[in-house]
Amino acid sequence: MLSLALVACTAKQPKMEDECLYSPSKTQFAFWSNVAEQMEIHLYDAADAAEYETVALKKGENDFWTASVKGNLAGKYYTVRSFQNGEWAPEAPGIFAKAVSINGQRAAIIDFAATNPEGWDKDVRPAMTDPTDIVVYETHLRDFTMSPNSGIEHKGKFLGLTEEAPLNYLKELGITHLQILPMFDYGSIDETNLAQNRYNWGYDPVNYNAPEGGYSTNPFDPACRIREAKMMVQALHKAGIRVVMDVVYNHTYDVMGCALGRVVPQYFYRLNEDGTYANGSGCGNETASDHEMYRRFMVESVCYWAREYHIDGFRFDLMGIHDQETMRQIRAALDEIDPTILTYGEGWAAMSPAYPYEELAMKQWTYKMPRVGAFSDDIRNALIGSPFDHDPGFASGNPAGVKDVMRGLIACPEWSGEPMQHVSYITCHDNYCLRDRIEVSTKGVSEETRLRMNKLAQTAVLVSQGMSFLYGGEELYRTKQGIDNSYQSPDSINIIPWENLEKYVDLHEYYKQMIAIRRAHKGFRLGSAEAVEEHVEFLDADNDQVIVYRIKDLEGIDTAKSLLVFLNGSAEEATVTMPEAEGNYVLLAYDGHANAEGLDFAPYDKIDVAPYSATIIAEN
Ligand code: CA
Repeated sequence: MLSLALVACTAKQPKMEDECLYSPSKTQFAFWSNVAEQMEIHLYDAADAAEYETVALKKGENDFWTASVKGNLAGKYYTVRSFQNGEWAPEAPGIFAKAVSINGQRAAIIDFAATNPEGWDKDVRPAMTDPTDIVVYETHLRDFTMSPNSGIEHKGKFLGLTEEAPLNYLKELGITHLQILPMFDYGSIDETNLAQNRYNWGYDPVNYNAPEGGYSTNPFDPACRIREAKMMVQALHKAGIRVVMDVVYNHTYDVMGCALGRVVPQYFYRLNEDGTYANGSGCGNETASDHEMYRRFMVESVCYWAREYHIDGFRFDLMGIHDQETMRQIRAALDEIDPTILTYGEGWAAMSPAYPYEELAMKQWTYKMPRVGAFSDDIRNALIGSPFDHDPGFASGNPAGVKDVMRGLIACPEWSGEPMQHVSYITCHDNYCLRDRIEVSTKGVSEETRLRMNKLAQTAVLVSQGMSFLYGGEELYRTKQGIDNSYQSPDSINIIPWENLEKYVDLHEYYKQMIAIRRAHKGFRLGSAEAVEEHVEFLDADNDQVIVYRIKDLEGIDTAKSLLVFLNGSAEEATVTMPEAEGNYVLLAYDGHANAEGLDFAPYDKIDVAPYSATIIAEN
């Protein structure tokens, strides 16, 4: 009886995403506020026109304020404001605005059906079975498309990623998912002045549920950014690549400049005991996922992107600010749309969130959030060193990291629960890119050696049982000129150097082959903690800078009977005795070369592992 009553009660709740429901004969509005004494919307003929009508909203059930406006409102704009504590709050472009004017100042009323590109109803997510099969490639729209050498026509735009050349490049590299830095409407770029060509990562949300105008060919047209974002997803899907959106629900650009802060003062944020805004994000505020309506906002928002834009995955910025229960509810809601939609995030915060640590979605508690992954700073720090100092890691000559590299190879089961919840990576947009990181931590070392270290570190990522994650451009030996926080650096620092495709052809080929080796061998992605426990062993190398990682008894799982990986993090060549094998050995990687089909010589009972390199052998 109780559960029936609960169902009946929740069924009546309006959705936050339905704040503006357009039809040609009328438009219905609904906004939530538990403190407003009055609420109203303002209607406008244009983004910069004076208001033509004020409509009072009526308080209904569950603190939703509603109105229905007759006539065809397509092409009009609205704002909402609320009255409490004796004053009117400033106008805001809705809480859940799905279409917005230039710079996200006003919400737009549009016919969403008209934003669908041709063939959108036939768009399908590319096939995917197990998340450990995934290789994510992270990029920023400008990094990937702005270079004069990119050959891309629509530079810095969603449409750039609909063009054949960049899609073919990603396809040939062999990645499965493209993670795009924030593409929702953010505040740090003036959309009225895109000619400035300013760069920003975009971790400053203004409207969570509308695309960023700066990435569209016409930010003045509210439908344009929506249509072009969909065209990008559609083109990537056609190329067999899934799309992961970087979502930043943990803070807003500011408080009173944002709809969440304006419409319902304070509610959507955590406060300190003295009433000031808590700041776990380090950006001046932190949102309150533990508050029922913000939790619902987050759940509805990801589902909205998954349904309306066919987004295939979400990377949660500073996920450690959110509570675990919210992440579980997001997982459950996405499962109803498609259980293959991916969820992972940063299991940490920038500063201390104002909420009990044990309840937060911190990396340590990943196992309590099934099928939600977390970035592994364990394997990252062990391989290349921690971002908090310049020390080398295992791949750059520091034996201290050996044990943690081994834990990372088996996906840190003590916190990850299942391997897919361990995002194996060494670099992302944050901190140094790989080339710069190795440079600052290895003084007086030649480029030839640094390239070895680069390949070795990335090899460990790609043979780890966790989910592989690569920072776009590492395969082209990108440098950010020593800048470890390039969030607003110019394009010249951030662009991917396509010209390096010729200069570093060997590095690029190695990445491509290592991705192919991972994708060809299920042994590197066993998929469950139980299988990892059963099939993985570490053999004694008699050398504290060499790791021997073996995945055995693979009949029925892999084309190989076993896989052997030797990782040599020292400046000296190592000689390792081979375990006894019944089948034929095929060499997949050796001395900085890799080939998924096999290199052209076979190893014997002893194997040499060149300095700073990986040797990988399949026993067939
Ligand atoms: Ca914007």
